[in-house]
Amino acid sequence: MKEMICIQCPVGCKLIIRKKGEEIYVEGNKCKRGKEYAINELRNPTRILTTTVFIEGGKGKHEMLPVKSDREIPKDLLEHAMKELAGVRVKAPVKCGDIVFKNIANTGVNIIATRDMEEK
Ligand code: SF4
Repeated sequence: MKEMICIQCPVGCKLIIRKKGEEIYVEGNKCKRGKEYAINELRNPTRILTTTVFIEGGKGKHEMLPVKSDREIPKDLLEHAMKELAGVRVKAPVKCGDIVFKNIANTGVNIIATRDMEEK
């Protein structure tokens, strides 16, 4: 038996997960998203990556640009993805939603800006 909190919405249901052979049984979920979340967490946990990258030529004192992955990526690739982003330098101007890094950690997922950044 395993317990976890569903993080798919603010309700935060406490999930109880039991495995019998290949079957996974979930209790405590108030909706079907909780069951899907529990099964994904056991089989292939994924997360949206949110972080910042360096930006050059941005207006004001901004040296960092907030970014996120446009889809979830496997949790065990997050560290590798962060290392790839550590060397990234974006040039202003940037619009929210612009792709700043393609195919992070060879996942097919892109990293996009989450705010506009005007040029100096
Ligand atoms: S199981 Fe449904 S209601 Fe409960 S936290 Fe997850 S998404 Fe929200």
